[in-house]
Amino acid sequence: MSAFAIGVDLGGTNLRIAAVDERGTILERTALDTQASRGRDFVITEMCEAIRATVSKISSATLAGIGIGVPGIIDMDTGMLRESPNLPGWHDYPVRDDIERRLGAKVVLENDANAAALGEQWLGAARDHEDMLMLTLGTGVGGGLVLGGRIWHGMRGMAGEPGHITIDPDGPPCPCGNKGCLEQFASATAIVRMAKETIAKGGSPGLGRASKDAGGLSAKSIYQLAMQADEGAHQIYRRVGWALGIGLAGLINLLNLPMYVIGGGVASGWDAFLPALLEEVRWRSFVYRATTGPGRKTIITRALLGGDAGLFGAARLPMLVPEVGGQDGVRKRA
Ligand SMILES: [Zn+2]
Repeated sequence: MSAFAIGVDLGGTNLRIAAVDERGTILERTALDTQASRGRDFVITEMCEAIRATVSKISSATLAGIGIGVPGIIDMDTGMLRESPNLPGWHDYPVRDDIERRLGAKVVLENDANAAALGEQWLGAARDHEDMLMLTLGTGVGGGLVLGGRIWHGMRGMAGEPGHITIDPDGPPCPCGNKGCLEQFASATAIVRMAKETIAKGGSPGLGRASKDAGGLSAKSIYQLAMQADEGAHQIYRRVGWALGIGLAGLINLLNLPMYVIGGGVASGWDAFLPALLEEVRWRSFVYRATTGPGRKTIITRALLGGDAGLFGAARLPMLVPEVGGQDGVRKRA
């Protein structure tokens, strides 16, 4: 009998569940509100009920396990959340073990950005590559590094945080404690902040008008202005590309991967930030310049799976057999 897995994308506001087979076909899917404010036990109970209902609809395959992408830092040893701003009250609680007990199936917890990277590697933009890095440009900047078809976790599951690479040592403060992180230039939050700074300097009548619209300023509205040749908005997206280019140049020099994938809502502004991004990467990364020929090209490209990347990646997790003695060894309990 063939196997399938359940992928869960557990966000602060939405909970999405899909049953996915080994080839990446979605067999069933469902979505509900997370209702994080009603507390951890309520959310876990709702999630387990929805998973049970999804599994019960599939009779043609056996359940390999459940992968859950969660916003926050996960301790791979204990299956607990160390930090998760969107899920208050979840830290220091054995989330993985509790769900395993309730459902009687293998559960793998993963950071949501790592899960998205694995999804893009398995079925998306990097499906022809075992090694890739993904940057997710959303409210913040997340990411994930996949090597040999597996997420690189580092010592305690905290690897894959390219959003907190320093771009400008004296740049805007970041909630992580550093200054001038990539996230402070390439996230939706940063784009709106930069637009407000431009307006305060009287730099763009177009942005000023957009800020008074009903929808207000957003990464999308600023992108639309940039595409209409508004100089202030255009400069902001050039700044996004500049920061991404500096960050990627360092990553390319370090990793020499075949593919770097950029996803998340801000990636919709691809046309507006790509020229500046490539300009920076070309002069800052000799590894990039040395890998432009056929067959050994460094590819920087857009993600393909949109919001489903994390769902597919989460479903992929229980399908991967842990490597004995490898970095995945930390996931196994003694
Ligand atoms: Zn930071």
